[in-house]
Amino acid sequence: MHGIGVSSGIAIGRAHLVSNALLEVVHYQLPMHLVDDEIARFKNAVQTVKHDLEVIRHSLSKNAPAEISAFISTHLSMLADKSLSEVPIEIIRKEQCNAEWAIKQQMDDIVAQFEAIEDDYLRERKHDVVQVVERVIKVLLGHPNMAVSKTKQSSKQQEGATILVAHDISPADAIQFKQHRFAAFITDVGGATSHTAILARSLNIPSIVALQRARDLIDDGEMIIVDGSLGVVIVNPSKEILAEYALRQDQWQLEQQKLQRIKSTKAVTICGMPIDLFANIEGPEDIVSVNSSGAAGIGLYRTEFLFMNRREMPGEEEQFIAYKQVVEAMKGLPVVIRTLDLGADKQMNPDTVSNCANPALGLRAVRFCLSEPQVFHAQFRALLRASHYGNVKILVPMLSTLGELRQTKILLERAKASLRKDNIPFDENITLGGMIEVPAAAINAEAFAKELDFLSIGTNDLIQYTLAIDRTDDAVAHLYNPLHPAVLKLIHMTIVAGAKFGKSVSVCGEIAGDVKLTKLLLGMGLRQFSMHPSNVLSVKKQILQCQLSVLNGQAKKVLSVKDLEKIEPLVAKFNLH
Ligand code: PEP
Ligand code: MG
Repeated sequence: MHGIGVSSGIAIGRAHLVSNALLEVVHYQLPMHLVDDEIARFKNAVQTVKHDLEVIRHSLSKNAPAEISAFISTHLSMLADKSLSEVPIEIIRKEQCNAEWAIKQQMDDIVAQFEAIEDDYLRERKHDVVQVVERVIKVLLGHPNMAVSKTKQSSKQQEGATILVAHDISPADAIQFKQHRFAAFITDVGGATSHTAILARSLNIPSIVALQRARDLIDDGEMIIVDGSLGVVIVNPSKEILAEYALRQDQWQLEQQKLQRIKSTKAVTICGMPIDLFANIEGPEDIVSVNSSGAAGIGLYRTEFLFMNRREMPGEEEQFIAYKQVVEAMKGLPVVIRTLDLGADKQMNPDTVSNCANPALGLRAVRFCLSEPQVFHAQFRALLRASHYGNVKILVPMLSTLGELRQTKILLERAKASLRKDNIPFDENITLGGMIEVPAAAINAEAFAKELDFLSIGTNDLIQYTLAIDRTDDAVAHLYNPLHPAVLKLIHMTIVAGAKFGKSVSVCGEIAGDVKLTKLLLGMGLRQFSMHPSNVLSVKKQILQCQLSVLNGQAKKVLSVKDLEKIEPLVAKFNLH
């Protein structure tokens, strides 16, 4: 079975199916005199779930990922919201129906509203609503709080690893599963940015989402293999396949252990060239994984996540607190904070969903900020204030003209002047960089290199705009290829432009964390990489084995080839040496 692998690694074990309470909800009518009792039953169930969630939150160990507590808080506030705590009561009263049915009706209604949202991230929040409602329904139906009872788990543990198979898994359940040492989990629903996926990554359990019908097709107790790296589940494998995967699993685990050994090793090539490996983060909660990755700083802090999932923009103070928290936690290491990159697939809330025909080509990122100078001003002030507490660099996304850059600089200077006037300290030497992610900027990279302090190549967008392929559309995902000669040429031009003006150049798109491209990028002259924290050690391992004189020659050959079909085997061949 194929799904979306959201957390790498291999697990082999027996399937444990988790029941889906939502499927068990039936409808029945109540006589008028029992309606109040039913409402009381509903209120009790909500209270029980609140209590359970609080208990889980308090029982979290100190080193549990910060996201978990945040997710549980989200579930608690959903439960406190009128739409889940009061509307079902109105439904019970009006329709004289059972509580399970009432809350399920309300859930369907809310989910339908979420489904109408274009933004992927916001749309996926519907799973949180479903998970909270499922908890309430489980209590109403008299199921145990947890989907898995401890006794059942411990008997299974003796037989070997257990793999959780569920329609969906709430973050609160996921953390309990972790405490019970499940080897992996797989679900029917969920996307790469669902809370479950985010959690899976932070818990380091191999996992796969969006398998569609895993719960239907897999039997309880059946032997399964989960390959989280490839997003593949093998059900009832033959002896030969089991033996093969047992080997691969050992190799994977050994590899992970070995990687930890180089955590504090400096990323230097065999020939002595130091390479900067930075981490990409979405907010202060990611600091834990940055620290365990051994990254030399933060190369991309995507601040728009602070602006998403809400109706009001965060003010200067709220932004300042978030930025300062990250800056202080990094203790003087560089923190590249990117200004707001809202727009396209990153909308603030349903009300701001763009109605323009091509949002990715519309008023996004720096274009949006320049059209809303007060938003830019507040962010600049917050960033500058945070710069007083560490080593902050400012990065501007989606530049396509020098005019945008100059306007941005004027607004930055204005923010500095206002802070001076208010006697608020900031780093007077703060540097300003620009994202090179629009082909126009890459082609004109020299001009940008001249006027900026550093460049950062956003290959996710650069590939999208160069190849005219929507990065969120899976129908054209097979055409989205970083090895396209036009893409390589633009990346190379940018690196060369930076070198000519003595400005550092990094790549902060997903390709920076792809070990299959590390050697090529080094050979093309790249010296700074910024990636998801979980990739830092494997990229470092590659770097430690590299000899730049060899890579330069190989990269030159690759850059001279104009046919994508010939480039792919060539890069694969060079990776073997
Ligand atoms: C990019 O485009 O490569 C990038 C790093 O920015 P984002 O993925 O946030 O658009
Ligand atoms: Mg981008």
